[in-house]
Amino acid sequence: KNVTKMYDRHTPALENGSLKIEDGEFVFIVGESGAGKSTLIRLLLRETRASKGDIVVDGKPLKWLGLFTLPRYRRKIGFVFQDFKLLPDRNVFENVALAWCMVGTSSKQINAAVFDALALVGISQKRFAMPYTLSGGEQQRVAIARAMVHNPYLLLADEPTGNLDPKNAEEVFKIFKEINARGTTVVMATHNPDFYLNSPFRRLVLDHGELLTRDLI
Ligand code: ADP
Repeated sequence: KNVTKMYDRHTPALENGSLKIEDGEFVFIVGESGAGKSTLIRLLLRETRASKGDIVVDGKPLKWLGLFTLPRYRRKIGFVFQDFKLLPDRNVFENVALAWCMVGTSSKQINAAVFDALALVGISQKRFAMPYTLSGGEQQRVAIARAMVHNPYLLLADEPTGNLDPKNAEEVFKIFKEINARGTTVVMATHNPDFYLNSPFRRLVLDHGELLTRDLI
């Protein structure tokens, strides 16, 4: 509510923006490069703090998150970036499993969760492959499996198809729709109109840090 983000003292990256996203929604964040899409995603992830205003996710004001509560908050959220960010020296299975390994989790539980996540993105057969042997589309699917392995209630995606050709981009978008149909709220920043035009999902439009769609508060 009334969120402003200033990286410096001159131009706000996000200016006095208010929005509400419902549980289970699929929402696009759209706008030109530099409009503030990544800033909004990073604020939701609490990678950066709002300069003004309040962000509340699942009833928790993000500004109060601290040393112990911030990792716990992030563990319930999945995130996917444009550039995959896989660990280059770990295979597919390990990349997904490492995102989930926590004290007290049995290897049987981890195996089951990783297999489910890999099946969700249709890449189980490549579980022993190293990232550098995979195509961009496959790498992004592994990144999505990694984001989903702990069954998050919210998936944040920042230009997840930005590095993909149209066919792979469409595949990835299909997986996001499936994830949303299974109950996870999805927030996807994109500047690809192929997705948001002709889509039933809501669109939040950012223009130079200003949130133009205000019918959602
Ligand atoms: P988008 O994701 O829509 O391309 P961004 O959120 O990345 O937009 O950027 C919005 C504005 O904030 C831009 O003017 C950008 O230069 C600025 N910005 C983004 N990140 C930083 C940063 N870490 N430090 C300073 N300025 C930043």
